[in-house]
Amino acid sequence: MHVIKTVLPDTSIPRTFYNITADLPEPPPPVLHPGTGQPVGPDDLAPLFPMALIMQEVSTEREIEIPEPVRAIYQQWRPSPLFRARRLEQALDTPAKIYYKHEGVSPTGSHKPNTAVAQAFYNREEGVRKLITETGAGQWGSSLAYAGQMMGLDVEVYMVRVSYQQKPYRRAMMETYGASVFPSPSDRTQAGRKALDNNPNSPGSLGIAISEAIEVALGDEHSKYSLGSVLNHVLLHQTVIGVETMEQLSMVGDSPDIVIGCAGGGSNFAGLSFPFIGARLRGELDARFIAAEPASCPTLTKGVYAYDFGDTANTTPLVKMHTLGSAFIPPGIHAGGLRYHGMAPLMSHLKELGILEARAEHQLGCFNAGVQFAAAEGIIPAPESTHAVKVAIDEALRCKEEGSSRVILFNLSGHGHFDMQAYTDYFAGKLQDYEYSETEVRQSLAGLPKVTEA
Ligand SMILES: *Cc1c(COP(=O)(O)O)cnc(C)c1O
Repeated sequence: MHVIKTVLPDTSIPRTFYNITADLPEPPPPVLHPGTGQPVGPDDLAPLFPMALIMQEVSTEREIEIPEPVRAIYQQWRPSPLFRARRLEQALDTPAKIYYKHEGVSPTGSHKPNTAVAQAFYNREEGVRKLITETGAGQWGSSLAYAGQMMGLDVEVYMVRVSYQQKPYRRAMMETYGASVFPSPSDRTQAGRKALDNNPNSPGSLGIAISEAIEVALGDEHSKYSLGSVLNHVLLHQTVIGVETMEQLSMVGDSPDIVIGCAGGGSNFAGLSFPFIGARLRGELDARFIAAEPASCPTLTKGVYAYDFGDTANTTPLVKMHTLGSAFIPPGIHAGGLRYHGMAPLMSHLKELGILEARAEHQLGCFNAGVQFAAAEGIIPAPESTHAVKVAIDEALRCKEEGSSRVILFNLSGHGHFDMQAYTDYFAGKLQDYEYSETEVRQSLAGLPKVTEA
């Protein structure tokens, strides 16, 4: 028998998160206050986040200890298995070795609980009683609801109204974990009431939901806000994925030539790749890193590297990132988790340094790859994850053409069991490819804030 799964014991759950800032040749640009144009300090963020997370946001320590209570909850599904995709390799008839890290084994079916559990812990340690967040398709909301349940915190979720209506199972999941879920725009906040005044039938947007969640968190001293991607501390928590994978690959005597992940805000890709990128920065590994994004929301491939707001309502600090402009509204593609106008500042910085490659993929090709993957490996990937599957298959076929054997590693960020409507629509021929023209991108970028950098 050949090895398919590499499974680590509970005791091998990493003891530290890996902080890539320690190995960067230069630090990423500072986060700026939109009013003054000056770098924000910890006190500016304190109303929203606990101090431990703010300190992680700016830390330059290479390793940050994972608290024991967080490791104890991770034990419910971590270490996650590393699979060798032998059946897919056979189906493709490729000399490449394909490995995937299966983050779909978590209670909510994706990588998102890795940071949700850590965030809930640090908030609880500082006396916070309730976490407020927004959710689009519901993957983040259900993960934070789960984490709140595990850590004994209340969770309140503002769910984009159209998803609230169309994704009843994700809502039921959040409620099963004891969270309160409100369709956004709601009449519970000024931001929500304003949106409803403008349009009583508003379908909602992530931008409005973020504004509602922030408003509620700021209005209650026992509540804080929580974000599921983009920020440095979120990417940091996700590095448990890559730290485990390094150990698993060394157990089977392999080292990756190509590391692949899908990228929405950048957290699952960073989680798998940063420990390997760190090794490359230290001169210990020679590998390529490819982020797969949707052609309908081409942040890294068509956006500009500039200071922009994190939300549509323009209430957040300014961060330097690859962005399509905070006014950018992507078409309704099914990979809901990849529809963010910006990219994590750390990911953007690595792209500028020439370490990260990016590829924009169309959804029809991605679903085709997802079906091919399910046929070979049995696991149905989340629509987001099919973007990584597509690039992995393309690279494996290139190996076949060139007659070279490379080690390809990708992150299977989640399973698709709550997204079968997307597969149904794909089979029914209802999905289309959509590509933004240069003119449309220029238009959405015209509204970028003017920032004079020091
Ligand atoms: C949320 C989500 C993503 C995208 O978010 P990142 O921060 O880019 O990782 C990708 N895959 C799945 C399954 C998700 O739930």
